[in-house]
Amino acid sequence: MKEIISQKTKLFCESVIREMTRLSREFNATNLAQGFPDFPAPDFIKNSAIEAIKRDINQYSFTWGSTKLRRAISEKYMKKYNFSFDHEKEITICCGSTEAMISSLMAVLNPEDEVIIFEPFYENYGPGTILAGAKPVYVKLYEPEWNYKRDELEKAFTDKTKAIILNNPHNPTGKVFRREELEEIAELCIKNDCLAITDEIYEHIIYDEREHVLLSSIKGMKERTIIVSGLSKTFSITGWRIGYAIAPAEISSAIRKVHDFLTVCAPAPLQEACALVLNTNEDYYKDLIKNYEKKRDILIDYLDKSGFKYFKPSGAYYVMVDISDFGFPNDWEFMKFLIMEVGVAGVPGSSFYHDDSGDQKIRFCFCKKEETLHEAGKKLLRLKEIFKK
Ligand code: PLP
Repeated sequence: MKEIISQKTKLFCESVIREMTRLSREFNATNLAQGFPDFPAPDFIKNSAIEAIKRDINQYSFTWGSTKLRRAISEKYMKKYNFSFDHEKEITICCGSTEAMISSLMAVLNPEDEVIIFEPFYENYGPGTILAGAKPVYVKLYEPEWNYKRDELEKAFTDKTKAIILNNPHNPTGKVFRREELEEIAELCIKNDCLAITDEIYEHIIYDEREHVLLSSIKGMKERTIIVSGLSKTFSITGWRIGYAIAPAEISSAIRKVHDFLTVCAPAPLQEACALVLNTNEDYYKDLIKNYEKKRDILIDYLDKSGFKYFKPSGAYYVMVDISDFGFPNDWEFMKFLIMEVGVAGVPGSSFYHDDSGDQKIRFCFCKKEETLHEAGKKLLRLKEIFKK
């Protein structure tokens, strides 16, 4: 019989994060693995969706997204960043930023192209690059600040490099790239005539009064940047699947073609609801930060008390934890112990690396109710007793 499964698909594994969620359910553990909130989405956004369905916005939208939502996104960028995008030609609504990323990769990559990905990475970028026929090239971020080394980044650019993917704020580390770093990345993109694809899904979740800088706003970058983002995280609606890609007109028209044949359009009533709420009261965004900052501090307080070494996040809602003091051979063994014996699930660190560099790390997320974080935290305190630290 002929080989049934494609060569490309054999090059990557199933999502480890979803596997951890499954294990967590099986052993009734507190799930700090998968990055979705366990608290309700805000009423004002839920009511907008109900209204949109009642108003019969129930058929396909334009394939590249409802005009209202594209206009609202363009207004948001003007209001927040004083940066203008043409909603007619430069914005494409997709089924989540996940689809925006893969449609973008498929729109610009050819076989033999290389894509630079910082590691640790959000697990979709490698498979996305491979499905688009290209090759991921990894550049390490080094703890505790999760900085890259300039010479390693410079060396990663070759004649074959087509794009670099930049996730800022960064999952899993919580790093927020500094303006100087962005300027350096921009300089290398321009020098090597490469695109930047920025995953900015956590742009509104940023702590300690830091600011989010658009790579696209750095001189010479607007014409070579694809911004990928969405509403999943900002409005706690990960199941709605509303994301978008913003790119120069020529690139956007290629993204729109891919998106059309992959999914036709994002859910129409939910696009309508998002259009109505995106430019909501500034207080919403301030409270979002305040609430997540509090959740971060609850979790890291328990980590301190349980004897974990960790890297305090400046953005997003994850914390990377060093487990080397616990004496386990690797992250999977530690995670099995943590789920089965302690009752808390996280994600093994190696799933954020292409090699075994993450095998003494794990990631927890804190996009959970405070009571969930206290429940997990109290269980983690037992580690101090077990290991007499
Ligand atoms: N990008 C990053 C960095 C993420 O952490 C996630 C989800 O965890 C996504 C993208 C997926 O976003 P969406 O729900 O818009 O597909």
